[in-house]
Parts: sequence; structure tokens; C-alpha cells
Amino acid sequence: MCYAIPGRVKSVRDKTVLVDYFGEEKKAYNEIDGLSAGDYIYAQGGYVIEKIPAPEAEAILSVWKETFFELQEVDVLLSRVDLEAKGIDPRVGRILDRAANGRKPSKDEVLELLNHEDTGSLTLFFKIANFLRQKNLKNSCCVHGILEISNYCSESCAYCGISSHHRGLSRYRMSPEEIVSAACEAVGKYGFKALVLQSGEDAGYRVEELAGVIRTIKEKTPALIFVSFGEVGIQGLEKLYQAGARGLLMRFETSNPELYGRFHPGAKLETRLEHLRKAYEMGYMIITGGLIGLPGQTRKDLADDISLTRDLRAEMYSFGPFLPHPETPLGEVLPVGETEVLKVLAASRLIDPLEAKILVTTAFETLSSEARRKGLLAGANSVMMNITPVEYRRQYAIYPNRAWENDLIEKQIEETISLLRSLGRAPTDLSVREKSNP
Ligand code: SAM
Repeated sequence: MCYAIPGRVKSVRDKTVLVDYFGEEKKAYNEIDGLSAGDYIYAQGGYVIEKIPAPEAEAILSVWKETFFELQEVDVLLSRVDLEAKGIDPRVGRILDRAANGRKPSKDEVLELLNHEDTGSLTLFFKIANFLRQKNLKNSCCVHGILEISNYCSESCAYCGISSHHRGLSRYRMSPEEIVSAACEAVGKYGFKALVLQSGEDAGYRVEELAGVIRTIKEKTPALIFVSFGEVGIQGLEKLYQAGARGLLMRFETSNPELYGRFHPGAKLETRLEHLRKAYEMGYMIITGGLIGLPGQTRKDLADDISLTRDLRAEMYSFGPFLPHPETPLGEVLPVGETEVLKVLAASRLIDPLEAKILVTTAFETLSSEARRKGLLAGANSVMMNITPVEYRRQYAIYPNRAWENDLIEKQIEETISLLRSLGRAPTDLSVREKSNP
């Protein structure tokens, strides 16, 4: 099983290659020596990550070719907009009509959309988001694997179940050998092409050690590696990039500095934003976003969060509901409903219609058993699977009863692929970021 479709190189110019996927051409950034026209490759996030032998590629392509165009047809059908939808507020109708025709809504208009509650308007809002996703990005769905390497954390984020608030939590830290082995298994055995390595703010690993782990994974297996170790410092980011990391997952959590200060004692929003900006300049692909439903957070804050994600030039938008953990200061707060999350996903698609990967987060899947299906039909085009060894997963308790907490990777893959197929989506990652300031 494989979560990326091989492409055939059409041309190579410096570090840029033009790749053909069933007649569709995409550009990708290439760091592999000796690549030439006619070769087959895997690309992830716009990077060529592996050259593959022609017989292997042709065998995989022949399997996909049978279903690829069928899936596209299902996808187009599901993304059709029913313009007869009833009961739509005329102002919302105008904003959505313009969005469907390529004009991105302003921040005030996003707020107007987020403020609407009526079913008719929301149905159209989500359908337009799905229409834009289909029109601009076709049916590809990005699938990443996340490996939670340590739940030690020195921070005291008021919402987080692995923060220092949770004194009774038993802590684990995977050894470098365990991390490399889990990563290689995810790529070699299960076919993942993009991995996120995540931990709490764990001083138990030195950055050099993490860089060494990344280097070893890259030597042993082809994968696009995202890091998510928190604020490792700008030099730390540089070291991880030099070791081969190409993506950073770091949410700013909330763009409201007052709220940020309230829930992150001793930390500054600006420091986090500096990491994100500098990482982009270094060449990292950025995954960022925030929490939905923090106490005191307004819909205007959410509209600001979506704009900030775009301004940070995020490759992927990661917005999920805040879910209360009883061992934290926010343990008694009620989470938002499913609709609030869908609105944020759909609004993200409207303001970044052409390229954004929009993630259905595990927190959303924990909030609602329908999260993936509804999210993917409201503008989202990305999912993550948990590849942390099952014996550690429960301890990565950022909130209780996480979706997929006990499910083997095989089961997650089976259910994910089955859902994607039912929606006409192909688990591919064909989009491209032209690398700036490499
Ligand atoms: N240390 C890294 C960092 O600071 O980015 C990554 C680990 S942190 C636990 C990963 C993410 O978990 C955070 O960005 C936060 O949004 C999310 N998270 C933590 N507690 C949560 C909760 N109670 N509900 C939903 N998401 C939560």
C-alpha cells in the first residue's frame, strides 16, 4: 500500500523538475543527484523525496489508473454546489458567490460567515469551500504519519494534558534507536512518505541529538520530515534543517496576544511567531494554526487566526477544537460543537483557495465521529495517522480519549483509505511549494 502516486519526470531544470501525473503536470523541488527526464519519482509537499525503479512505478500506476479517473468523477459529483439551497442570508450569499468566482473574502466577511448559524447558509458555505478545494486542488488528499517521540514537557500551557500541570502522568521518551526504527517501519512497511516527529518541550533531547536522529532516518529511508518539538530556538531550527528536516509543525495556538499570555505563562506569542517566520525563510514548509474554543476567544479572534495562518504562508492549516483535560486549569471548560470547527476549516479554504492543505485534526476526530467525512466535504484535504508505538500513545494524553488511541496502524490505514475512496479522494500529495530562500 502506498500513500503517494509516482510521477514521471518530464523535464529537469536546475533544481526544478516538471512531473506528470496521469496527464496533470506539477513542479517539484529536487535534491536528488542525477535525476533525468523519464525517471519515476515520489514527491511530497513539492519535494522530490525518492527516485523509484520504472517497473515498480509502472506496476503502482497501473493499479491507480484503474480507479484514479473514477475517483475524480465521484469527487466532482460530491463537490457540486446546489444553488437552489434554501434560506440563505443575502449577504452570506453575496460573499459566497464572489468566493466561488475567485474573490477571497476580507477578514470582516470571514467574521460574517463565522457568525452565521442558519442551516441554509452553512450548507452553502461548506459546499462552496468543497467546490473551491475540488476546482483548484482536485481530489488529492495529503496523508502524513505523526510519531510522538516524548511526552516530557517543561511548559505549563493551561489546556494541555502533557504540560507540567499533569503531575501524575507517567512520562516516556523514545530512544534514538526506537525513533529511527518506528520511522523506518512507517515508511518501509506501511508506505508513508511524510512523517511528523513531535514531542513536548523536552530538554531531555539535545537539538544535536534530534538532528542526528533525522540524519539517520534520511540515510536509511526516503521521507519528508516535519519537526514539532516546540521552541527549539532559531539556531536549533537551522540545525534540524541542515540535518534534513523540511517541515515545521508549530501552531501559534491563538493570534490574540492577551489570550496567548493568559494560557501560556511565561511565554510570548511573538517568540513563537518568530520561529515560524524564520523557519519559512530557511525553507521549511509550515504547518500552523490554532485552537478553537479557548475560554474568552471570540469569533473575531478566529477570523484573525485564519488570516495569520495565511500571512505566515502556511503550507497546511491546522485548526482543531480545544478539548478539556481534567488535570489542567481548563479542565472544566466545555468544548465547542462540530459546526464551529467546520466553519473554521471552510473559511480557511475560502481565504486560501488555490494551494492550502487543510487538516482534519485528531482533536476534531475525537470531538466528532463524523469529523473526517464532514471536514473533507467542507474544504479540508489532509489527514494524519498516528504511527506512535501503541504502548506509548495513551501517555501522549494532550486530551482524554484521543481518536485512534488504541488502533493499530493497519486499521487506521484501512479505515482512512476506505473513507477517502468513498469520497472520491486519492491519497496523494501533488501540490508544490516553490522554495524561497533555500
Ligand atoms: N511541543 C510542541 C509545540 O509546542 O508545538 C508540540 C506538542 S503540543 C502537545 C501539540 C499541540 O497539541 C499543540 O499545538 C496544541 O494545540 C495541541 N493541544 C494541546 N492540548 C490540547 C487540548 N487540550 N485540546 C486540543 N489540542 C491540544
